[in-house]
Amino acid sequence: MLLELKNIYKWVTSGGSRVFLLKHINLAVAEGEFISVMGPSGSGKSTLLNVIGMLDNFNEGTYTFLDEPVHQLKEKHRAHLYKAYIGFVFQAYHLIDELTVYENLETPLLYQKVKSSERKALVADMLDRFQMVGKKDLFPSQLSGGQQQLVGIARALITKPKLILADEPTGNLNSSQGEEIMQLFKQLNEEEGVTIIQVTHSEKNAAYGSRIINLLDGVAV
Ligand code: ADP
Ligand code: MG
Repeated sequence: MLLELKNIYKWVTSGGSRVFLLKHINLAVAEGEFISVMGPSGSGKSTLLNVIGMLDNFNEGTYTFLDEPVHQLKEKHRAHLYKAYIGFVFQAYHLIDELTVYENLETPLLYQKVKSSERKALVADMLDRFQMVGKKDLFPSQLSGGQQQLVGIARALITKPKLILADEPTGNLNSSQGEEIMQLFKQLNEEEGVTIIQVTHSEKNAAYGSRIINLLDGVAV
């Protein structure tokens, strides 16, 4: 297994009582799976993705990622794990406005302390692969939404993660841009074995995956 959540609960306390964001979540994900998470707004989809991505804590249950007990790890060790193995793709791209395409792609490598010559080679590969060599000096605001999301995905892939977590990655795109992103995910999954967990509202996008998890009020139904 790539990862396994067992009996995960997450809550916030409000007015002295618990409001559950996730309840009794059990999920085992094998390497190479492509999973779609669906459910109404507020059902806990982003919370679940953030827990899997180790960006959010949880209150009860166990989480094992590549045989490491995430729930027992110190923050530093956890950060090391997700930086090494997980790439995030967001609905609103989350590119850094003040940095060029080149610099945005380079950022995760700087966090990982990859040395300069290797950074150059990896960014060049990614620009090439995404046919963005001519756009490397542009800023995010000079790109279309579809192009920004491609940069977002290229940035997520540059550290060669085992797992891509994508939270409504096509939510701000038109249907042909969305289709392009889904084709890219399909190719990454089938040809490179990258495990993908995506949140989507679209049945059509969900069908690219091999399994659907439906959430309702923080519970998998
Ligand atoms: P989804 O992504 O399915 O729309 P979310 O995971 O963002 O849902 O949120 C699930 C529910 O938890 C929502 O009702 C949201 O308002 C609430 N929520 C999320 N994060 C917090 C938080 N840190 N404190 C309190 N409530 C939260
Ligand atoms: Mg959400």
